[in-house]
Amino acid sequence: MRVLFCSSEVYPFAKTGGLADVSYSLPKALSQLGVKVQEVMPLYKCIDRKKFKLKFTGKSIRVLLGGEYYEFKVWELKDSVHYYFLENDNFYNREYLYGTPKGDYPDNDLRFGGFCWAVAKLIEEGFFKPDIVHTNDWQTALIPVILKEKLSLSTKTIQTIHNLAYQGIFPKETIERLNLGWELFHMEALEFWGKVNFLKGGIVFSDAVNTVSPTYAKEIMTSEFGFGLNGVLKKYSYKLFGILNGIDYDVWNPETDPFIYANYSDTNIERKEINKEKLLREVGLEKDKPLFIFIGRFAKQKGIDLIESAIGEFKKMHANFLILGFGDEKYNNFFKAVNNQASNIRARVEFNEKLSHRMYAAGDFLLMPSLFEPCGLNQMIAMRYGTLVVGRKTGGIADTVKDVKEEGGYGILFEEPSPSALIYAVRRALELYGNLGKFKNLQKFVMNLDFSWSRSATQYLRLYENLLEGVI
Ligand code: ADP
Repeated sequence: MRVLFCSSEVYPFAKTGGLADVSYSLPKALSQLGVKVQEVMPLYKCIDRKKFKLKFTGKSIRVLLGGEYYEFKVWELKDSVHYYFLENDNFYNREYLYGTPKGDYPDNDLRFGGFCWAVAKLIEEGFFKPDIVHTNDWQTALIPVILKEKLSLSTKTIQTIHNLAYQGIFPKETIERLNLGWELFHMEALEFWGKVNFLKGGIVFSDAVNTVSPTYAKEIMTSEFGFGLNGVLKKYSYKLFGILNGIDYDVWNPETDPFIYANYSDTNIERKEINKEKLLREVGLEKDKPLFIFIGRFAKQKGIDLIESAIGEFKKMHANFLILGFGDEKYNNFFKAVNNQASNIRARVEFNEKLSHRMYAAGDFLLMPSLFEPCGLNQMIAMRYGTLVVGRKTGGIADTVKDVKEEGGYGILFEEPSPSALIYAVRRALELYGNLGKFKNLQKFVMNLDFSWSRSATQYLRLYENLLEGVI
């Protein structure tokens, strides 16, 4: 079986969040199951062609957008997954992937719509010959639309929704800017409140749609979590599935992680302390207190406002807080300022892969107060490193963390999206930390939970097989 996996970010080439992790590890896990996976993404400025030894294939494709032709050159890297990169310097040779901290790039419709056309044309020309085209999030969601409606190709398609909050919504002129044809501008196709919605196209025209946890698959059909697409998703619920993400056990492994100060496993978990001590020194925090970490995009979704409002209480606690994140300017500024205000709180406002590994290894608790969370990888990574989760019971967090109040529970969950509920959950964590025997046992327990990709990849494979057999 040949699968073409299309994504706007793939680790280690370009990453802003979990999509990159999934786009690295799911194709790899699928190839281990015997699937031939090709993967295609834009060739951004941040991708070091020399370091990754990318080669130009000699192939290029021209795409007509509006009245102008744009050329995309195809680069490649052969590994267990065969990676392809589409080069167009006008679109992708920029500082960021999607936009600056001040906002999205205004021509994202052309940047990603153009990418979708280029991929679809490469399929039409037979450069790619997939049995299944797997698209991810709004950036690649026009591929199934173009394949079916513009090129009349019957290749099977599956659209994964990693986060429904991001839909790729553009003014209606985008129809002309991308030569999509006004016949697609209606309620049963791309039209969404007078605008063009890329993700809606992916949902409507794909043969199957899935999201990244079973709980989120249910949540997005409600008005609370549906971001206006709940009705559409309900209509297509017969082809909507929820498959929990996994994490890459080669990348996220405290026994071999090259970034952390001391490698450890559940049998010598006392070595986790070395990581904590050294990291505390590195960031200027005092010893002998439980360490709460937060790692994530500074976006409302991640519950940053709750943390902001709770900071006053956190300052008074006998605990350390270390925050790593980057995103909306107002949050960046807030956390930069926090650094000088309390001796037990430190924030690093940047994207820093190495530091994130060190934090997972050093932490006692991970804070994850997300307002909604399609799957969330942080909580699974944290548990792999023996760091217990203090999180909101939503989406993938609800699917992966069980509260200690329950039989066999191993984390702390809260429901109400309020600062006081977060503070109460942190207090419960402190209490748990006070019971050192129980705390240590839970650390070992969570390290042995299985969040590897193998289980999830098997479910994707079954979905692909069902698509090819016409069961869906
Ligand atoms: P998202 O909604 O951003 O996709 P996920 O939980 O699915 O959230 O994935 C987040 C991934 O990005 C994790 O691998 C996490 O460690 C990483 N990450 C997020 N912010 C940062 C940062 N500032 N520095 C380093 N890694 C980060």
